[in-house]
Amino acid sequence: MQSFHPPQRTLMGPGPSDVNPRILQAMSRPTIGHLDPSFIQLMDEIKSLLQFAFKTTNALTLPLSAPGSAGMEAVFVNLLEPGDKAIVCQNGVFGGRMKDNVERCGATAILVQDAWGAPVNPNKVEAALREHPDARLLAFVHAETSTGVRSDAQSLAALAARHGVLCVMDAVTSLGGMEVEIDLWGVDAVYSGSQKCLSCAPGLSPVSFSPRAAERIRARRTKVQSWFLDMNLIMDYWGSGTRRSYHHTAPVNALYGLHEALCILAEEGLGAAWERHRLHHEALVSGLEAMGLALHVAPDWRLPQLNAVMVPEGVDEAMIRASLLRDHGLEIGAGLGAMAGKIWRIGLMGHACNRRNVLLCLAALEDSLASAGAAIQTGLALSAAHARYAQS
Ligand SMILES: *Cc1c(COP(=O)(O)O)cnc(C)c1O
Repeated sequence: MQSFHPPQRTLMGPGPSDVNPRILQAMSRPTIGHLDPSFIQLMDEIKSLLQFAFKTTNALTLPLSAPGSAGMEAVFVNLLEPGDKAIVCQNGVFGGRMKDNVERCGATAILVQDAWGAPVNPNKVEAALREHPDARLLAFVHAETSTGVRSDAQSLAALAARHGVLCVMDAVTSLGGMEVEIDLWGVDAVYSGSQKCLSCAPGLSPVSFSPRAAERIRARRTKVQSWFLDMNLIMDYWGSGTRRSYHHTAPVNALYGLHEALCILAEEGLGAAWERHRLHHEALVSGLEAMGLALHVAPDWRLPQLNAVMVPEGVDEAMIRASLLRDHGLEIGAGLGAMAGKIWRIGLMGHACNRRNVLLCLAALEDSLASAGAAIQTGLALSAAHARYAQS
């Protein structure tokens, strides 16, 4: 056996995204004890940086030591008890996972379904809230990575507030890449992931719970069924002050990375980061459309950080992805679930969201499609992207 050296790639899929070298450097610093006073200071800084990123004053804001899926599970296992009812919006893969989580808590999921490629329809959500006044929470995915769709989080959170239910939001793909306003919108529980627009290594899930949600957790009649994800226990470890009780060994070096990722986001500023994602998304779309490719989502609801592109008729989508990887070291994503074989997913997340990657992706995709004999326009994509940049 020899040391593993990964190939050089450009990651423009649905995550992980290219990790900023500053973050990789931070992660290679010496490991210290997870109850070392310096480490406790780092934990406090991470909590306040996460409050900044989520735009919240929630005291219960911290990274879970596991990927985004654990954040999803943590929210449901803490907020739901057997016999509870939850309204779950599904317009892609991740809404379906929310439903599964709700049911595994012994709760009932009331599904509000929309087409894969359309946003969650607030009218349907309102009807469900009226029909189920006993529901305890409303859950939706802000940025559906499986379809490239944004939903109107502000309206959905307002509906939850009006009907007196907790609002749960998946911000795995939205955090750092588009507007996320936890306090302004009134979201009660949110989870994200380190490897999407934060451009950190995978494996951490920032979460935040409002005082109302924290109160719900404290007032539970039953124990949280998951020991590892029980926020009552995690709070004692991540709580304030210097008295921390051991819960699990924090992934020390991974947290150095998250701290650095959040410092980078703070240096750029949230508004500037959102604006950068929008600009490069528009340049990418200009180039794709000049090539004759179509996007799966209507313009108003597109995610800047995840572009769902229709696979042209007769093209073997897997072969194109394989040639992008082999010839250009470029990774883009395949369709997931119902979208398998129908779309590609081109990520412009965090550190990977830049002009060089947009131009690389357009040139590489044109090369691979033309080589495969696809009926696309050649020679126009790069100038279309440049034209968009020239306007900024
Ligand atoms: C990636 C993703 C997840 C899951 O995150 P993991 O880190 O892969 O566990 C959940 N929800 C959405 C919307 C995602 O894009």
